[in-house]
Amino acid sequence: MLLWLAHLALAADPVERPEDTWDLSVLYPSLDAWEAEMKATEAAVDGVAGCKGQLSSRLRDCLDQRFGVHKTVMRLNVYASNASNADTRDAEWLSRSQRGEMLYARLDEVGAFFKPEIITLGGDVVEKAIASDKALAPYDYYLRSAVRDGAHILPAREEALLAGGAISRDATIRVRSQLVNAELPWPEVTLSDGTKARLSPANYTAHRGSPVRADRQLVFDQFFGALSEYGGTLAAAIDGAVQGHWYVAKARGYPTSVAAAIDTDHVPQAVYDTLVARTNANLPTLHRYLKLRAKMLGISDLAYSDLYPPLVSGSRTWSIDEAKQLTIDATRVLGAEYAAESEKGLRARWTDVYPREGKVSGAYMDGSAYDVHPFMLLNYTGDYEAVSTLAHEWGHAMHSVLSRKAQPYSKADYATFTAEIASTTNEALLLDHMLKTTKNEDDRLFYMGNALEGLRTTYFRQALFAEFELAMHTAVEQGQPLTKEWLDSKFLEITRRYYGHDAGVTKVPDSIGSEWSYIPHFYYNFYVYQYATSISAGSLFADDILAKKKGAVDRYLGLLSAGGSDDPVVLLQRAGVDMTSAAPYDAIASRMERIMDEIEGILTKKGKKKK
Ligand SMILES: [Zn+2]
Repeated sequence: MLLWLAHLALAADPVERPEDTWDLSVLYPSLDAWEAEMKATEAAVDGVAGCKGQLSSRLRDCLDQRFGVHKTVMRLNVYASNASNADTRDAEWLSRSQRGEMLYARLDEVGAFFKPEIITLGGDVVEKAIASDKALAPYDYYLRSAVRDGAHILPAREEALLAGGAISRDATIRVRSQLVNAELPWPEVTLSDGTKARLSPANYTAHRGSPVRADRQLVFDQFFGALSEYGGTLAAAIDGAVQGHWYVAKARGYPTSVAAAIDTDHVPQAVYDTLVARTNANLPTLHRYLKLRAKMLGISDLAYSDLYPPLVSGSRTWSIDEAKQLTIDATRVLGAEYAAESEKGLRARWTDVYPREGKVSGAYMDGSAYDVHPFMLLNYTGDYEAVSTLAHEWGHAMHSVLSRKAQPYSKADYATFTAEIASTTNEALLLDHMLKTTKNEDDRLFYMGNALEGLRTTYFRQALFAEFELAMHTAVEQGQPLTKEWLDSKFLEITRRYYGHDAGVTKVPDSIGSEWSYIPHFYYNFYVYQYATSISAGSLFADDILAKKKGAVDRYLGLLSAGGSDDPVVLLQRAGVDMTSAAPYDAIASRMERIMDEIEGILTKKGKKKK
């Protein structure tokens, strides 16, 4: 038995069954085996350097070598990082996990010549090579992508200068993180029941949905007030980050920061612009939801601080076995292969289920061990949120299962842009299944209220962030430095438009202007828009699948199986979803409208019964 398993067994909750923990020994039978492979792979990583200057004569051989080593490095990392995440207090596993990461970084560094050399070969040579050697087929997308990126890759010395500056450009997010997570003196508040709470970001999240209106108002005022006091520092930090994005974009010859950022996945600007335009066009749907929320909470003057209490509270819990069965049943519409793989994977030891002291928080799926299977980490509590999280992560896991089955290693890894489609489609299928199997009206209201809130936060809220992120970058590109005043007023303007402040839908107080400083994602260089595009595409797929549209399931499974074999927007197009069209964004608005129709129907019926 592995050392770490013995260690976990000591720390584990006594009711934890072996099947509720993952079995990492399928990756390496022992720690010695892992150490031996680490050693051999360190040498293999350095061996990749031997391909430098050789790609014109040994293209296939060198690609085989590079991707082969890459695959092993990932497997080594899956073993060490997951063992470490299961118990972050274990210094030895942390150190092994860091060694794995360093090996990955080393491979990146050693293999950095691949792209520039392929670009130097040029499109014609690459196309001739692909045409004349069938064994290059697994690499055709990689090769063509590199050639296409050529227009924005600089000569080696300039690339090195840019790369060398990254550590100082990244100081901006370290400053923010140090201030917000460690040094900012968060205010202490006394809640209506007499308990005191220090409003750190974690406690803000814990209390912002309080059922007591005065408490959540207090929490919002104090939390955003505290952030506002440090708004000058936080503005200087985000200004530095955005200036850095623009600096790199200009150096690489892009017209704008957004063009540079989304070109890493070859996403056309039209996707971003359509998302923002259609979301604005769909704001009446958000406003209808906010009015419904006010009605259900019994509030006549809805305020921004009333956004987080649940519409309907639910107390039901599910065992992990019940949750797995719900996921299997809810996704049965995806056909026999999906169901069989789900039965197999969910019943095998792929998942570490329960929260435990020292275990990382949250949930994730790790699909990086190509020859093995995905692993999932949950912190399962049994409430509906936890059931929904399982269905979400299982969507990711099946994406990996299907893409590994259909694609060679070099094409199996999929882009972030498509990743959240697999998970959000599963969430939509779960909701449909819960509604189909639940007659109790209060339970139905609970599931639908939960779904509406998920759609608000993953679609409208992220699209709002995407619009603000674009506005910040555009301002910098036009020579406008990002001051606290500019940031507060721009964030307030967009938030008031989204939440219908002027129309009397939601009162958004001035203090919300500083909410931009609470969002670390603004440092990630155009990341958040993908939450909104993914859930939109997922909505459209789920609608078509549930409506039993001809070919819908095959189109969807085709997308999952395609992995990273082409640009994400091209793969989606092939699966029948055009991300530059209104269709996906309008699908999510219609989904919300349908849920609200149903909720209002139940509320009307209930109102009549009372009379
Ligand atoms: Zn996810």
